[in-house]
Amino acid sequence: RKRATPASRTRVGNYEVGRTLGEGSFAKVKYARNTVTGDIAAIKILDRDKVLRHKMVEQLKREISTMKLIKHPNVVEIIEVMASKTKIYIVLELVNGGELFDKIAQQGRLKEDEARRYVQQLINAVDYCHSRGVYHRDLKPENLLLDANGVLKVSDFGLSAFSLQVREDGLLHTACGTPNYVAPEVLSDKGYDGAAADVWSCGVILFVLMAGYLPFDEPNLMTLYKRICKAEFNCPPWFSPGAKNVIKRILDPSPITRISIAELLEDEWFKQGYKTPSFEQ
Ligand code: ADP
Ligand code: MG
Repeated sequence: RKRATPASRTRVGNYEVGRTLGEGSFAKVKYARNTVTGDIAAIKILDRDKVLRHKMVEQLKREISTMKLIKHPNVVEIIEVMASKTKIYIVLELVNGGELFDKIAQQGRLKEDEARRYVQQLINAVDYCHSRGVYHRDLKPENLLLDANGVLKVSDFGLSAFSLQVREDGLLHTACGTPNYVAPEVLSDKGYDGAAADVWSCGVILFVLMAGYLPFDEPNLMTLYKRICKAEFNCPPWFSPGAKNVIKRILDPSPITRISIAELLEDEWFKQGYKTPSFEQ
């Protein structure tokens, strides 16, 4: 007679692995509990196959060692990394307030103040990582999580090589499909400055939060690429003049003239209500 199987309790190192929290194209993220310390965490599970096929094991190791040095209130912390024959496990700080994207999906666009507060936290995280030579390259709302207090935490920092892939058609695709958040110079892939590219993505995110829709959105990929490369977008009438100005300076197709983070932090509209992050550097 077949026994009723108890809820399977997978173990990874000291962790008891629980329910799935989310899924990306390369990874599954599950709830985990350290049975020794009682600490809860999230565990990101990657197929070794996929990593090997993309010849990225060395790169992954390098990126993870960099990420371990990064401690910032707005960046999801990497706790430890483990591997089995078939999987790679990345233990992460658990962030359980959902994705920022769900918020827009549920309540529509955000007020300018609220959108700005999130993007200020995002820029703080990006600025900190850049100062340590780490670039994201695939910033988008799915990688922006909220903790129980509504504090924004960026995930996947330094793991971007896994989310951006070049397909047979030679065009860059992101893990989730279309490259709506990717900077023109990343699309043309002629060698680019990671810092300016991340700033572009922050601009697209700011636009989406305040508009409730994407600045660049086309069903046809070629048309989408062209629009991104020419920075063809229109701000909705409800954007304030200050917001419009900042969006225009961020969504500048030239990475050379595009606003830098330092300049952004001096912008009259952007710096309203800005709080300098306080934490141990
Ligand atoms: P991928 O690299 O494949 O895109 P992600 O790291 O973005 O995978 O994770 C996929 C999803 O899992 C996220 O969109 C989010 O919903 C969830 N997730 C990721 N990291 C965490 C975390 N630290 N805590 C809670 N949920 C997470
Ligand atoms: Mg992701």
